[in-house]
Amino acid sequence: MPRRIGLYGGSFDPIHIGHLIVARAVAEQMSLDRVLMLPAAQPPHKSPDQLAPAEHRAEMVRLAVADEPLFAMDRWDLDRPGPAYTLDTVRHFREMLGPQTEFFWIIGSDSLRELPTWYRVAELVESCRIVTAARRESGPFDWDAFRPLLKDAQIRRLEESVLATPTIDVSATEIRARVRAERSIRFLVPEVVGDHIHRTGLYRAKP
Ligand code: ATP
Repeated sequence: MPRRIGLYGGSFDPIHIGHLIVARAVAEQMSLDRVLMLPAAQPPHKSPDQLAPAEHRAEMVRLAVADEPLFAMDRWDLDRPGPAYTLDTVRHFREMLGPQTEFFWIIGSDSLRELPTWYRVAELVESCRIVTAARRESGPFDWDAFRPLLKDAQIRRLEESVLATPTIDVSATEIRARVRAERSIRFLVPEVVGDHIHRTGLYRAKP
């Protein structure tokens, strides 16, 4: 039987309830068997010196998903050298899990805006289904930005894969700023993640 696997890449600096609630909502709507969380050592669109050490980010993801059978963390984007291009990641999992598996790459709507700048986007949209979760929006979406890059049918598939997930107005940027300002992050991250942040002193110093 074909398996339906969600792949959720990001910097997870730190993982927060926005990621987790959205991942579950996408999994339910798309009948996914599992969502693999993929913290990237080097996300293509972020500079490494702006990020917390990769092992801390990964440990927080591991803690957050430890007791949730629907989710698992995978180290592929952590251990490989160079930028974590999504196309390469999908190809790796395709090789691992075989042609029967269907892959759903999960992004927030802010990432959909950036998608035209992603590495070999036309091949990417053929290699998996990109599903977009709602996020607080800054104006209408410009589908024409994809016209030079994608065929009409590919753009339509992206449009159809924008899901009505709950809008959770939380970002990792906000959480880091709250820790720096010594404000509570309780309820914004799983308790185990909050404990890790407080125990290690992550995000306390100004970058
Ligand atoms: P930062 O504030 O540091 O940019 P972030 O909160 O956007 O981080 P990332 O780890 O960079 O988190 O995001 C990974 C993916 O998760 C991206 O596709 C992003 O759009 C999505 N995402 C993050 N937070 C949310 C949220 N609250 N709702 C929906 N999608 C989200």
